[in-house]
Amino acid sequence: MGVVTLGDVDRQIGRGFKFLRFSPDIETAFLHDYAASRIRLAAVWAIIGTLIYDSVFFGDATMMPDVFSELVTVRFGIFTPFALFSVLALRRWPSARNYDLLSISVAVLGVSLPMSVAVFSNSPYLFVYQNGNVAAFLFFVVALRPRILTILVGLALMCAVQFTTTKLNGTFDDVTYTGIVTFYVTLTIFLAMSAYFMEHKDRLNFLHQLRGSLLHAELERKSERDELTGLFNRHSLARVRQTIWSRQSAAAVAVIMLDIDRFKLFNDVHGHIEGDDCLRAVCHCILLEVGSAGETFRFGGEEILVLMTDVEQEQAIETAERIRAAIEALRIRNRGLGDGQLVTASLGVAFGNADEASLEDLLRAADAALYQAKRDGRNTVSIFDVARRGPTGSGPGDDTARAPIPLAS
Ligand code: GH3
Ligand code: MG
Ligand code: MG
Repeated sequence: MGVVTLGDVDRQIGRGFKFLRFSPDIETAFLHDYAASRIRLAAVWAIIGTLIYDSVFFGDATMMPDVFSELVTVRFGIFTPFALFSVLALRRWPSARNYDLLSISVAVLGVSLPMSVAVFSNSPYLFVYQNGNVAAFLFFVVALRPRILTILVGLALMCAVQFTTTKLNGTFDDVTYTGIVTFYVTLTIFLAMSAYFMEHKDRLNFLHQLRGSLLHAELERKSERDELTGLFNRHSLARVRQTIWSRQSAAAVAVIMLDIDRFKLFNDVHGHIEGDDCLRAVCHCILLEVGSAGETFRFGGEEILVLMTDVEQEQAIETAERIRAAIEALRIRNRGLGDGQLVTASLGVAFGNADEASLEDLLRAADAALYQAKRDGRNTVSIFDVARRGPTGSGPGDDTARAPIPLAS
């Protein structure tokens, strides 16, 4: 099944569906929903329907005494086991097609069984007796509610059974017989029309529900992403913190903080539009290097954060170095620095265990290492040395004493 988009749903609503069929992917989703909701109620309708059907036993005894034993046999020996089988079969093989097939079988069987016995009855009450089939017509269309094609075929078959058996019985004169035919044809037309409108409404409701859930998913996705770069935004860092820091076993976490070198000069010379393109290219490059090993966030203007869990320190440093080299290898010119100069980035790496360091601790440490990388001449990776509480190559690690870094801007 393909992925249904919000645009697909809007187009379907605009185009309409007067033949009660959607485009293939939406139809597949609808049938899935249709089968699930119908099958959920199948057992309830089977119990109610069979109880009513079997209680006509009393009517059989009073109105059709001459074929009573045959009627009891078809009600309890054939119809009841078949209704039970239908429910079990739907649980075992749930699908829209099976639901429709079993609905039509139950309905047609429900009318055919007593009516084929009634053919051989001489009861004077046959006219009243055959009226009871209206309940089967209503049960099929209003309670079981299969799809329209099944309803049309089912109603046609039920009418055919009704007309043939009453004719074969031979009790009714032409006027009475025509009255019966007229009555059932009228009933069928009204039921078919209402079935069409009910399914149309069901389908429209489904489209609106699908639209609502797709819209919700899209809004959720957008609220987590930065529009320019497509990376996670700073706001979504809180969600990641929640998952990492609430785990039972403490994870080893590496934080890589990256800042593009002399980016202000790039903007001054190339303009902000080209600056945006450059930022996008750098972020794309970072995503490729990080792959599935971590999550990447736009932390600030041109500051990018990579969060890796369950990693060795060496692996995190290696990733940072790979990112640095890959950005340089993009060979984007920064004419603000002079001819032939390239866009580069500086990176700070911090590492710790989730049960010993908070995310803010690690962010502060990576930030301190990043500033050391800038001081070391840029286009380099600096690592926060936990033992010295400062970045490697720096003096005493007093950078960690800077103001706390908030998670959401
Ligand atoms: P340094 O090497 O010290 O980092 O120098 P820098 O010029 O990069 O300094 P800094 O990091 O403070 O500058 C950030 C600049 O990044 C300022 C702003 O012009 C630019 N910037 C931030 N966000 C965006 C953005 O979304 N698009 C563009 N085009 N520029 C941005
Ligand atoms: Mg910068
Ligand atoms: Mg910056």
